[in-house]
Amino acid sequence: MIQGWTKSSWRQKPRIQMPDYPDADALAQVEGRLSSYPPLVFAGEARALKRKLGAAARGEAFLLQGGDCAESFAEFNADSIRDTFKVLLQMAIVLTYGAKVPVVKVGRMAGQFAKPRSSGMETVGGVELPSYRGDIINGFDFTPEARIPDPARMLQAYTQAAASLNLLRAFSTGGYADMHRVHSWTLGFADGDKAERYREMTSRISDTLDFLTAAGITSETSRDLATVDFYTSHEALLLEYEEALCRIDSTSGQNIAGSGHLVWIGDRTRQPDGAHVEFCRGVQNPIGLKCGPSLTADDLKVLLAKLNPENEAGRLTLIARFGAGQVGDHLPRLVKAVQEEGANVLWTCDPMHGNVIKSSTGYKTRPFESILREVREFFAVHNAEGTIPGGVHFEMTGKDVTECTGGLHAVSDEDLSQRYHTACDPRLNASQSLELAFLVAEELVG
Ligand code: PEP
Ligand code: MN
Repeated sequence: MIQGWTKSSWRQKPRIQMPDYPDADALAQVEGRLSSYPPLVFAGEARALKRKLGAAARGEAFLLQGGDCAESFAEFNADSIRDTFKVLLQMAIVLTYGAKVPVVKVGRMAGQFAKPRSSGMETVGGVELPSYRGDIINGFDFTPEARIPDPARMLQAYTQAAASLNLLRAFSTGGYADMHRVHSWTLGFADGDKAERYREMTSRISDTLDFLTAAGITSETSRDLATVDFYTSHEALLLEYEEALCRIDSTSGQNIAGSGHLVWIGDRTRQPDGAHVEFCRGVQNPIGLKCGPSLTADDLKVLLAKLNPENEAGRLTLIARFGAGQVGDHLPRLVKAVQEEGANVLWTCDPMHGNVIKSSTGYKTRPFESILREVREFFAVHNAEGTIPGGVHFEMTGKDVTECTGGLHAVSDEDLSQRYHTACDPRLNASQSLELAFLVAEELVG
C-alpha cells in the first residue's frame, strides 16, 4: 500500500482544472454507477505496458503515442477509430525500421475526453461563457446550457471508451493489423505525388518482408506479423471519473486506474502537492508527466520521488513539450535533474503543445516545420547528453483534416478552413503523421 494514499485522498488536495458540478446528488449517482461497472483495462495489461516502457527507457524499444487532442461524442464512429489506428500502425512499421527496436503503440484513445484550459471563460462576439472542457464535462456548443458541467457525460464517455476499446482489440488481433497489409497502405502513400523521398525506405521494408516470407516467416506462421499489442492512454484530469474506475488488482492487491493503460498528468496540473499528482502516485499504471518550460528542476525532483518512489522501470514517462527553439533552454537542465536523482525514466517528445500559433486566417494551428524542428532538437539534446530519446507523442488523426500547416501537400493558412474539425487543438492529418514518422525514422537511423 502507498503511504497515506486512498483512491479519494486527492480530494484533500488543491484541485484545479476540474468542474464544479452544480448538482451534487447527480454527481454522486454517476460516481456510484461507474464504481460498479467493469474496468476498461486490466492490471496485467498495464503491467505488460510498463515492462515495454522500461525497455524503451533503456533504448530497447521506442514509444509511439498518438491520437486526438480531445475525443468527441459527435465524431465517435468506427471509421474514425479505424483510420487513426491504421495510421498509427503504418507509422509504427516505419519507426520500427528506423529504430531497429520494437515500437510500443499507445493511442490517445478510448478515454481522452477531458481538457485543461488556459482560461475558465471564453468570449465570442462580446458574449462570455464558461470554457469548453471536453465532452466528458460539458458541451462544445457556445450556449449557456451546453457549458454547464453535466456528470451524466461521464457515463457516455465510459460507454464510448468501452466500445472504442472493443473495436481496437478486434482490429489488433483480427487480421486488420497484419504487417503486410499495413505496409501495402504505406506503399500507396510513397507512390503518391511528392513522396519520392520516402520510396527508398518503403522499398527496403518491402524487401525485408519478402525475405521473411521466403524464409517461411509469414502472417500464417508468425503471430508477430499478424497481430499487434495496442494500448490506450489519456490525461487523468477528471478525477471523479478516475476514482470511480479505480480498482484493486487481484494479483498484486494494488490499485489500478481502470480507465486506460497509461494515464498522464498535464503540464497545467503537475503541482507536486496538487490533486492530480496525489491521485496518480497511488495507482500502479505507467504514468506520464508533461514537462513544459515552467517545470523547475526542484519540482521535477520532488515529482520523481512522489510518482516513482521505488524507481521502477517503465513507471514514469517524461513527455517533453517545450516548443521549437526552446528545447535547448530547458531539456538539458531537466535531464541533469533526472541524472542527479539516478531516476529511471523514459524521455519522450511531444512536439505539439509548445508549437501552437494563430494563423493569418485566424485558426489555431501548428506548422509541420516547427513540429519536426522540435523533434530534431529533442534528439540532438539527448545525443549530446548521452541519454536516450525513447519516444514521440503526437496529436493526430487518420482523417484528411486541414488543421496543421505544411507537410508534403503544403497545407496553407488559407486551406485551414476547409476541414478544420478538431474539438480542441489542431492535429496532424494522416499524410502529415506518416511523413513525420519517416522523418523521425531518418533521425533514428542517424
Ligand atoms: C494535451 O496533451 O492535450 C495537453 C493539454 O497537453 P499539455 O498538458 O502538455 O499542455
Ligand atoms: Mn492538446
